[in-house]
Amino acid sequence: MAKKAAAKSAKELAEELLNPRKNGFFKVSDEKIEKADKFCEGYKAFLDSAKTERESVDYAVKAAEKHGFVPFDPKHQYAPGDKVYYNNRGKSICLAIIGKEGCKNGVRIAAAHIDNPRIDLKPIPLYESTEMVYLKTHYYGGIKKYQWTAIPLAMHGVIIKRDGTSVQVCVGEEPGDPQFTITDILPHLGQDQAAKPLGSAFTGEDLNILIGSRPVRDEEVKDAYKLNVMRILNEKYGIVEADLISAEIEFVPAFKATDIGFDRSLVGAYGHDDRVCAYPALEAILNCKNPVQTVITVLTDKEETGSDGNTGLNSEYMRYFIADLAQAEGEEPRHVLSKSTCISADVTAAYDPHYASAYEAQNSCYINGGLGVAKYTGSRGKGGTSDANAEFVGKIRRIFDDAGVLWQIGELGKVDQGGGGTVAKYIANLNVDVLDIGVPVLSMHAPFEVVSKLDVYMAYKGFKAFFDEK
Ligand code: MN
Ligand code: MN
Repeated sequence: MAKKAAAKSAKELAEELLNPRKNGFFKVSDEKIEKADKFCEGYKAFLDSAKTERESVDYAVKAAEKHGFVPFDPKHQYAPGDKVYYNNRGKSICLAIIGKEGCKNGVRIAAAHIDNPRIDLKPIPLYESTEMVYLKTHYYGGIKKYQWTAIPLAMHGVIIKRDGTSVQVCVGEEPGDPQFTITDILPHLGQDQAAKPLGSAFTGEDLNILIGSRPVRDEEVKDAYKLNVMRILNEKYGIVEADLISAEIEFVPAFKATDIGFDRSLVGAYGHDDRVCAYPALEAILNCKNPVQTVITVLTDKEETGSDGNTGLNSEYMRYFIADLAQAEGEEPRHVLSKSTCISADVTAAYDPHYASAYEAQNSCYINGGLGVAKYTGSRGKGGTSDANAEFVGKIRRIFDDAGVLWQIGELGKVDQGGGGTVAKYIANLNVDVLDIGVPVLSMHAPFEVVSKLDVYMAYKGFKAFFDEK
């Protein structure tokens, strides 16, 4: 009879069998921390130069062309290693590198969104009231309205003039630029407001942006204050009031991205959701060399309003792009899609001890815990989710562990507390295997959100490992 092996100690057993929770800092070397800090310098520069979906696409096109990507031509025959991009109306973009196998065994997709919660204008926005000039707005995405008052705002966007020419606008970002703001009542007179529930204390019609207070010098003329603003806009951009009808103007927080904390471990900025996944997904494809399967990074618009519309992923634009790639290789698009895999790269909630009652601590994602994996999203009994298949979760686990990617798994919050969705289901509905993976965020959807530098870097490492897997 063989000799019985010495019994394992409880400590050894625990190490082997249990799932320990350890701060990510202790799982990585100082060298990795340094790499994370360095990576985030590039990320902060991206945050400051691309605050809207259009600016993010412009950024991606420039970066892609520098790395040898060319505009996609569906009639062209591509060879392994060729790099292409498809710019969808300047608001969404697909970038692809043709794999050694092409797309016959499926493609690998990383999909992030580049639209952020913000303040849009109504079609007829301009008015004056008590000798001040304002813009009426219609907010975009899920915001807590009170957070958007009494902060500096910048104006970004595009205006299509009557003659069809377009004007780009960006005011409030350069030093010395004027900025804008939505005013709030002083606490001394805020008794009525303070008595209201948070959700109804501010209405959409309260969010008007202050843009001026001086009239044209003529005491007889009507709308002299509004006219003075239009006079300035006409001088600068050659536009008239009616041109604001054919415009997409977005007011966003005028803050710059900045380090947070004495240890500089965090980044505070507007619009981490979801540029904190978009930037790593872009960097992952820019730095991907000779993939086996064709890899695609999709940076999409309209996630924050439900992905509908022709620049959102509930439309066909990504499917058409993949179909064109497939057909150029003589493959049936639906067969390619059915074998494809995808990381739905979107943020998740980071556990916040001040609101502990909204989270389930054991199944939450934590700052510095690494890339956050969510097997499913949705609300009220997983409503509206595409619950990833265990086999695909298993595959991603192996890829991440083999590549030294720090990752964690969690849910957004407590089961009955609410919930949310991502683009995952729209891609999964094409018969693609999809898993939600992204960076944990504090103060998500606030004008100023916070993420961990280590987690941002792990997003890059994770998405790259997914593309590089043999
Ligand atoms: Mn998001
Ligand atoms: Mn969001």
